[in-house]
Amino acid sequence: MPKINLLEKHISELIAAGEVVERPASVLKELVENSIDAGATIITVEIKNGGISYMRITDNGCGIDPDDVPLAFLRHATSKIKNGEDLNSISTLGFRGEALAAISSVARVEMLTKTLTADNGTHYKIEGGTEIQNVPSGCPNGTTIIIKDIFYNTPARMKFLKKDVSEANACAGVIDRIALSHPEISFKFIRDGKQTLSTNGDGNLKNTAYSVLGRELSNSLIDANGEIGGVKVNGLICKPVFCKPTRNNQYTFLNGRLVRSGTVIAAVEQAYKNSAMIGKFPSFVLYLSVPFETVDVNVHPAKTEVRFSDEKRIFDCVYSAVKNALAMGDTRPEIKPQTPVFNKFERMTTQEFKQTYIETGSKSTQTDDVKKVEVYNKPTVEKPKPVLNPFIKLESPLPEAVETYISPKDKSEDVKVDVIKKDEYTPKTDINVDIVKSELEPELLPVYLIGEAFNTYIVVQMGDSVFMIDKHAAHERILFNSLKDNIKVEVQSLLTPVTVVLSKNEYNTILDNLELLSKSGFEIDDFGNSALVVRSVPATLIGEDISSLISEISLSLQKSGKVELEIAENLYHTVACKAAIKAGTKISSTEMLELAKKVLYSKEIMYCPHGRPVAFEIKRKELEKMFGRIQ
Ligand code: ADP
Ligand code: MG
Repeated sequence: MPKINLLEKHISELIAAGEVVERPASVLKELVENSIDAGATIITVEIKNGGISYMRITDNGCGIDPDDVPLAFLRHATSKIKNGEDLNSISTLGFRGEALAAISSVARVEMLTKTLTADNGTHYKIEGGTEIQNVPSGCPNGTTIIIKDIFYNTPARMKFLKKDVSEANACAGVIDRIALSHPEISFKFIRDGKQTLSTNGDGNLKNTAYSVLGRELSNSLIDANGEIGGVKVNGLICKPVFCKPTRNNQYTFLNGRLVRSGTVIAAVEQAYKNSAMIGKFPSFVLYLSVPFETVDVNVHPAKTEVRFSDEKRIFDCVYSAVKNALAMGDTRPEIKPQTPVFNKFERMTTQEFKQTYIETGSKSTQTDDVKKVEVYNKPTVEKPKPVLNPFIKLESPLPEAVETYISPKDKSEDVKVDVIKKDEYTPKTDINVDIVKSELEPELLPVYLIGEAFNTYIVVQMGDSVFMIDKHAAHERILFNSLKDNIKVEVQSLLTPVTVVLSKNEYNTILDNLELLSKSGFEIDDFGNSALVVRSVPATLIGEDISSLISEISLSLQKSGKVELEIAENLYHTVACKAAIKAGTKISSTEMLELAKKVLYSKEIMYCPHGRPVAFEIKRKELEKMFGRIQ
């Protein structure tokens, strides 16, 4: 029979440590929570190598009395539970008096701590559970704890750690979530020497959210607010082009607590449909406040997943808040070219340089600038090569560009580029476009066609900006919107009706949706035996292979599930995509200008129905910066 042994203290501590110390991020969470418990208002966290080799947490909390420091590192040592009555909080808040003991058993730990009233602080070191140093030391009020070489004495656990980057990302995620949950505390996070987060701790939820999301997404956040029947939501969402391939930046707070709610995520993502690319997800921080009785009380308080008694109301409230925010706050994406940095010495003549820095500069008046000159003159610093003017070497004039170039002065007959008064402007085609209305801008700015690149991107000038427009995406969106808004579609009868034979499934799907198809301009009769006769189609689809078009439509309808709106939108997608001018197809200058105006005069047309951007804006100022005309 195997003999029963009592485990050594060290071994049992290592086993216990396994529960708390899973990876650097879990250690960080415990330590930052300790700082919060200690009443800190400023917490600075620094990590190196994903926290594996180094983590430092500094707070301005209450500190620990010199006598209590060694106790804090013992198992079951806590200042937070004194008697049996406090035990309830163990399961809810995770006070178990175990974290420091566990962490110090698998790492090298150093602590500097001082309470407000004590004259001296304590400098304490403990490695692998063994005390190394305990001496009085002068230090600021509060606590600094340094963790080095996690799992240095447990190589088996070390093996389970991921790459530094993943561990560092996990640490950053912990700090993001804690910072968002505590807008009243100022957090700083330094990762391998670089500060990546700083919240100001002013208690303002939006300011905090802005610091956390704005780090990558500055200028791309939109306010979202809404209220339906006692459910309130407010927060920040990102513009659709900034959606990411992961859901990492999605935060929902329910009555102040960070939670996960499938309903909220679904509502937000549904609102982005047709604006965000498939496979990309919006970033958001949304604060929900709902009557307490509507939250499912059976969900464990330590778990973050929540359920609501009225999921539909939550969905509707979030969906409409996000949808409205996107309609109001989204703007066209802007290209900000990288501005080359000009060295001021590069522009000086030798004479000027000598006068400024050599003739007048005695040793005592030498400034930093002089040191920079030395560095700059070293041959190792390569000067940027000038870009050759691409037009100089051209053998023949640009064939297409010249034809389509219409300068403001040189107005050719067929293209109108005058200022169009708002009430005079009537779109030339059957497609209506919302015209931007603004009290301050009674006149629409004229649009000048510059040309087209690669038979794909229309380049125009309007106001103080140049725009590049993807003609397929733009046309597709215009067609999609007009179908969606039930604007009458121009229908074209086919000279010879086309008979289409489909698979049983495809055939049934088309029959089920005949009414919807007819509204979209398709006149289709049932011929029996899986055959259909197509008599007319939207005019824009003339010339397409009708047979494969109908089967494609059927497939997209099949994919749509049962929601009516989704079925219709999928049909519009397919039709718009098929009917839109293809990239690479030649169109006339008049058509280009028409299309550009539709895009630029409408606030609605910013993404193609697949979520790709339709146009990019380059501001004149940015160009001038790029060419060094302005600083
Ligand atoms: P718990 O947090 O469950 O009490 P820990 O092992 O995390 O257990 O911490 C042990 C004790 O050490 C705490 O109860 C607290 O008194 C003290 N302590 C830990 N970190 C700090 C800190 N940053 N500031 C002040 N006291 C701290
Ligand atoms: Mg703790």
